[in-house]
Amino acid sequence: MYKIPFSAPYSEPAGSPIRELFPFLSRPGMISLAGGYPSAGLFDQVGLQQACLRAMESPGQSLQYCATEGLPALRERLKEVSSARGVHCELEQLIVTTGSQQAFDLLVRVLVEPGNCVYVESPTYPATLQALRLAQSKIVQIPMDAMGIRIDALEAMLAKAPSDERPKLLYTVPNFSNPAGTLLPRERREALVQLALRYGFLIVEDDPYGALDFGSGTPPTLFELAGELAPDRNPVLYLSSLSKTVAPALRIGWMIVPRDVSRRCAIAKQTTDLCSSSLAQMIAAEYLNGGGADVAIEAARKEYGLRMRHMSAALRDQLGERASFVEPAGGMFIWLQTTREFDPKRLFEASVEAGVLFVPGRAFFEADADLHCMRLTYASPDCGQISEGIARLGHAFDAAK
Ligand code: PMP
Repeated sequence: MYKIPFSAPYSEPAGSPIRELFPFLSRPGMISLAGGYPSAGLFDQVGLQQACLRAMESPGQSLQYCATEGLPALRERLKEVSSARGVHCELEQLIVTTGSQQAFDLLVRVLVEPGNCVYVESPTYPATLQALRLAQSKIVQIPMDAMGIRIDALEAMLAKAPSDERPKLLYTVPNFSNPAGTLLPRERREALVQLALRYGFLIVEDDPYGALDFGSGTPPTLFELAGELAPDRNPVLYLSSLSKTVAPALRIGWMIVPRDVSRRCAIAKQTTDLCSSSLAQMIAAEYLNGGGADVAIEAARKEYGLRMRHMSAALRDQLGERASFVEPAGGMFIWLQTTREFDPKRLFEASVEAGVLFVPGRAFFEADADLHCMRLTYASPDCGQISEGIARLGHAFDAAK
């Protein structure tokens, strides 16, 4: 058989560990607490339908190619959305991307060479690990605690790293991280920015969940804090997305980066997709113009808060001492730590048998995976499904012992 000469990163690539769970989802009656899907019931169907109609009134724009950097009307809207979060920028610094996933991929393409060291949180978002592995970077995970990335551990690692092992980039999700659900306090944000300035690395601040707080808000973004500390050399590259607040199908994300970076990312994007869908961009611009997003986000914050509390109560009730977790203050995930007596493989199999799916912890680590943990989402299942799903998880714990 003819052996196809794949490039080194693709010779034996691992696929997304979360997408590998998809076959289990098609089992009849399966309750999924696995995906990072927003609630389908919360999509603003009427508002988006009206935005679609308005977008189609200008087919010369919505059905045509557009500028690689994005449709001017949408860039303006996203600039305003970002500004309201304290992320102020010039228009040239903002690029619309096909999901924030693409934004990270473009940054990796223009910044990371094989062997470059990149720091990420432990645990972290699996697609970030995947992109960095394919870029053949050296991935180093920094421990987290209940408040997010541990600055003491980071500082110690930076201090002892030889100069060729200092990070070029650090990737973090300070607001309601995926999977740990943590919210980084302001003092840690300031300390992180100080370290980036002292050691000369860039920070990728990935913020798809910040708008989904359950009432207590979020500290200032790293981007804003860094802008105050070092206005001429802000080391923070800010990413966000409409996926979790409006609809993932639009595939609208954005990055706010220095002009040098945005120009190069636009060139990288030219060979990827030329431009993000003009139709999706028009719909998003029309939708944001109409003000519907604010109402929809408010509804999502309330509903996700309710579902989170419902899941937390069910977990305490069904699992008791067998697992622990910290209630998140926003976002979509509970990160559950199980006691050591449960074999993770057996627990996963027993859960599938019981008809409930979660993401096993190993998906979120590069090395030294903590196998005794799992990610659960409360965003897509309703309260009835959450009750039933966690009851099934309880049975799986009984069976796995
Ligand atoms: N970053 C994080 C932390 C995420 O959880 C996700 C989606 N699960 C993304 C980025 C990608 O989102 P999208 O490409 O849909 O904007």
